[in-house]
Amino acid sequence: MLDILIKNASELVTCKSAGPKTGRDLDALDVVKGGDLAIKDGRIVAIGHLNEDAKKIIDATEKAVLPGFVDCHTHLVFSGSREDEFALKTQGANYLEILKQGGGILSTVNRTREATPPQLLAAALARIRMASDYGTTTLEIKSGYGLDFQNELKMLAAVRCLHTNRRMESVPTFLGAHAVPQEFKDNREAYVREVLRMVEEFRRQSLAEYCDVFVEEGAFSAKEAETVLKGAKACGCRIKLHAGEFSDIGGVELGADLGATSIDHLDYISEEGMRLMAEKKIIGVLLPGVPFHLMTGHYAPARRIIDAGIPIALATDFNPGSCPTLSMQMIIALACRYMRLTAAEALNAATINAAYALDRGDRIGSLDVGKQADIIILNIPNHRQLPYWFGMNLVERVIKNGRIVK
Ligand SMILES: [Zn+2]
Repeated sequence: MLDILIKNASELVTCKSAGPKTGRDLDALDVVKGGDLAIKDGRIVAIGHLNEDAKKIIDATEKAVLPGFVDCHTHLVFSGSREDEFALKTQGANYLEILKQGGGILSTVNRTREATPPQLLAAALARIRMASDYGTTTLEIKSGYGLDFQNELKMLAAVRCLHTNRRMESVPTFLGAHAVPQEFKDNREAYVREVLRMVEEFRRQSLAEYCDVFVEEGAFSAKEAETVLKGAKACGCRIKLHAGEFSDIGGVELGADLGATSIDHLDYISEEGMRLMAEKKIIGVLLPGVPFHLMTGHYAPARRIIDAGIPIALATDFNPGSCPTLSMQMIIALACRYMRLTAAEALNAATINAAYALDRGDRIGSLDVGKQADIIILNIPNHRQLPYWFGMNLVERVIKNGRIVK
């Protein structure tokens, strides 16, 4: 007896792939029309036209069935919000100007340091519920609003508490090198040493899978990032970088050299950087919600990035300053409008390729026999309607690990 049988979906969009999708393959979706999908013990056990008994049968007539979204880049644990800064931005102030005035990341650092662990966890749980309602079944969460041992530990401990959440798998990333805290602003070298001490200890406690560095003017140089990431690798962390968000200062080349799992943002990237990423098969995580919210109008050159052969993923970059949304549906809508992705490209980027950006492509990110049953059912008859309707929640049901959570 099956646990769940999803019957008669107008489209089962499988996003199946043996590796991260690139080039023309990225535009190909394996779609089963009028198909059924069977779930048992948390796994997908059959796809096709099925006639088995199940404890629960879901009629998916006129609905599209997809793998759950994988949001492979978020800063979900933080305290407070920055609507004042948003108001300033609408009046024309830019991100770096706000940062220089002590706003930006550091204002969230202050709020997060003040928050108690239960407060931080309660806010994170509310956000997990919202992301889940919008169809995300796995998300990565970065630290980086503590910027000292005790507060980075507090953030990563909150992420660990989320591990038991039945709606969501959370993947922890240490981002101590997000900004230089006030108390180290005249001694950056000492802060880099402190980050190295933290990564070693957090790794020892298995609190972080990845180490990430924000490579940007006003944040960390490629040289500083190299020190941090080499130290992280030495203690067994896989690595990610924020690079090319506002300028290209060598983060891409460094990430390629060190064998990063993904390099994220890429709004600014050189031809050479693209060539290196394609050669090393590093996933480029594109975050169109950021230029949208910041109103810069400067989006990653996604068509050129795809043509260069780089596997791309899409993510929210959910954070209180530069992208306050948890909706992967909105991100897909933006990617199609501003980066000119096709619906198929955006869907593969938000599911299977995003799963590979978290080294989980063999377990999640597609509808495939043997894979974990992380599935969403959308109230639309075909996948091409997903980017077309925007700003509305099209997700009707969410199945996580074979359990109905919405
Ligand atoms: Zn980010």
